[in-house]
Amino acid sequence: MKRILLTISFLGLLLQLTAQFDSVFYNKSLRMDYIRSGNSENEWIALENWYEQADWAGSENVLIDPLGYGKHWVEMRDAATDSVLYSRGYGSLFSEWQTTAEAKETVRSFPETVVMPYPKMPVQIRLLTRTFQGDCKEVFSIKLGPENYFIKPAPKMKWPVMNVWGDGDAADVVDIVVLPDGYTMEELGEFMEDARFFAESIFQFEPFRSLKDKFRIRAVLAPSDESGIPVPAEDFWPQTALGSSFYTFDSERYCMSYDNRSIRDLAGQVPYDQIYILANTTKYGGGGIYNYYGLSSAGNQLSSKVIVHEFGHSFAGLGDEYFDSSTAYSDFYNLETEPWEPNLTTLVDFDSKWKSLMDTLTPVPTPAVDSMRTVLGVYEGGGYVAKGMYRPMIDCLMHTFKGEEFCPACKHAIIQMIEVYSE
Ligand SMILES: [Zn+2]
Repeated sequence: MKRILLTISFLGLLLQLTAQFDSVFYNKSLRMDYIRSGNSENEWIALENWYEQADWAGSENVLIDPLGYGKHWVEMRDAATDSVLYSRGYGSLFSEWQTTAEAKETVRSFPETVVMPYPKMPVQIRLLTRTFQGDCKEVFSIKLGPENYFIKPAPKMKWPVMNVWGDGDAADVVDIVVLPDGYTMEELGEFMEDARFFAESIFQFEPFRSLKDKFRIRAVLAPSDESGIPVPAEDFWPQTALGSSFYTFDSERYCMSYDNRSIRDLAGQVPYDQIYILANTTKYGGGGIYNYYGLSSAGNQLSSKVIVHEFGHSFAGLGDEYFDSSTAYSDFYNLETEPWEPNLTTLVDFDSKWKSLMDTLTPVPTPAVDSMRTVLGVYEGGGYVAKGMYRPMIDCLMHTFKGEEFCPACKHAIIQMIEVYSE
C-alpha cells in the first residue's frame, strides 16, 4: 500500500514537473551560436546567430544542472523574476587550447553552440566560465525575447536519418546523434555499419549494457566530397563534411574539428542530447569534450575502447586517468583546487568524490601495488600529471585500454548522468 501511495505521489510529481515545463517552455529548442576567442589569459564571447530547432530532446524534469561539471555553464533566467529556468555545464576545445604553448603567443577563436529549451517569456542568457582558481566568472550575458524575429529556423537538410538503436521518447532517453566524417556517398553503407558498431561498442561495457533502454541512437547519412580524414603532418587534406583532422594542438592522435557550424547543422536534423562523430580512417585517434562532442576513428582495431573512452568524456564528463603519455597541455589542472571531473581528485575536497563508495579500511592515498589491482582507492597519478592528482583505480577504461571495465567511480558517474537525462 505504501509503495502504491509512493508511486501515486511520484506520478503526481512527474505530472506537476511536466506542467511546469509546459508553462515555461515550448517543446522546441533554442540554439545560440557564438565565437569564443582569446589567449592563455583571457576569453571573449561574440554572438553569431540564433536558431529555432524542432523538438526539445533533453529532460523536461531535470532543467537545472544538478551535477555542476564542466569548465563552462549556460544559464537561462526569467527576465522578469530572475529565477533560473535552465542550466547546463559543458566543456570546450578553446579551454583545452588555452593550456597549450600556442595560447601564450597568439589569439585564436573557436565557434561554439549551446542548445536550450525554447522559452515562452523574455529571458536573460548568461555564459559562465570556471577560472583556474575554481571561481565562476560571467563571460557573456544577453536578453532575448522569444518573439525576436532574428531567431531563424535551423537549416533543414535532405540527408536520410537511420535509426540505430532504441525508440524511447526524446525527453526520457539519452538521444545520441552519430555523424559521419570522411565517408563519400559510395561509402555511406560502411558508415551505417560503423554506426551500428558504435552502438555495440558502447553497450559492450557496463553500466551502459544494463541501461541500454535509456538510450536512443540515430545517424544522419551525410556524405563527404572525399574519403578519409586530414593528416596535416603528411600533407593529406581530403575535403570532408565536418572538418575533422588529426594533429589537433599538434598532437598526432588528437583528432577533432573546429567546424562547429557544420557539426551543429547536421546534428540538428534530429533532436539530440549528445553528438558523436565517426571519422572514416584506420588511423588511431579521437577526442571527447563534455557536452560538446565525441569523435573517434571508426576503422581502428582499438576502436570499441576508444569509442567508449571518448564517450566517457563527452557524455559523463569523465577525466583522463592517465599521466604517463605526452599531451600538449601544461597546467591543465590547478592542484590547489578540486577538479570538477567525478573520477579525479586532488584530495582538496575528496568528500565530494567517490569516498562514500570506498571501503573505509582502504588507505588514502592507496599504494599502487599489484594486490590492490581490483580495489577502489585513491592512487596517485592522473589528469596528465604523476604527482598531486589521484585516480580511483590502478586501471580503468579512462586510463589504458588493457582492461575491459570502467572503475566503480566512473560507473557511478555514468549512472548518475543517465539519470539526469531519463528521470
Ligand atoms: Zn575510472
